[in-house]
Amino acid sequence: MGKLETLADVRIKNHIKEILMYIGETPDREGLKDTPDRIVLMLAEIFRGYSKSQKPKITTFPNGADGLTYSDIIIDSGKFYSMCEHHMMPFFGTYHFAYIPHPKGKILGLSKIARVVDFHAARLQIQERLITDIVTDIRTALDCNHKPLGIAIKITAEHLCKSMRGVKKQGVMTNIYREGAFENKEIMNEFLELTKDLQ
Ligand code: ZN
Repeated sequence: MGKLETLADVRIKNHIKEILMYIGETPDREGLKDTPDRIVLMLAEIFRGYSKSQKPKITTFPNGADGLTYSDIIIDSGKFYSMCEHHMMPFFGTYHFAYIPHPKGKILGLSKIARVVDFHAARLQIQERLITDIVTDIRTALDCNHKPLGIAIKITAEHLCKSMRGVKKQGVMTNIYREGAFENKEIMNEFLELTKDLQ
C-alpha cells in the first residue's frame, strides 16, 4: 500500500482477523480480505488526536487590531465526530463555543475553534473531557494580562453505543460548561437562546 508496514501494523491486522472470526466471519473471503488494511488506515485517521504533532496552532490577534473592539459574545458553532471510550463507538453532534473577549485581550483566529475541536475529538473521549480539553487549549491561547471575560461551551451528541445497543434509544446527550461572565444566568441564557436553533 505504498507505505512500509511496521511490526505493529502486522500485529493489529492479525488481531482484526481474530475479531472477524470471533463474530462468526471468514476473514479470507473476498469482501473482507482487505478489511484489516482499511481499518489500520482508518485508525490512523480517526485517532490522529494522539499525535502531538497534529495539535493545531491557535493564532490570536490583539482585540482592536482591525479597528474594532469586540466586547460582546462571539460564538462559533460546528459539527464534530468522536469515539466513545466506553465502547469504541462513534458519537457525533454539534458544538457551540462562546467567549467574551477582554477589550484589551485577544481574539481567536477564524476556524481555530473548529481545529481544536477536531483535534481533541480524534481520540477516545467522553463528552465531559472533550469539553475540558477544548476549553483548556482555548483558555491558554487567549491568556494574557487581560483574560477573556467568559467562556462557555455546549455540546450535544448522539452516541451510537446507546442508539444501537443496550436500551436502543436515541442516545442524545448534552453537556454545558461555563466560566466567568457566563456564570451570570442572563448571559448564559442569551448564549443558549442564540444557539438553540442552530443544528
Ligand atoms: Zn459508549
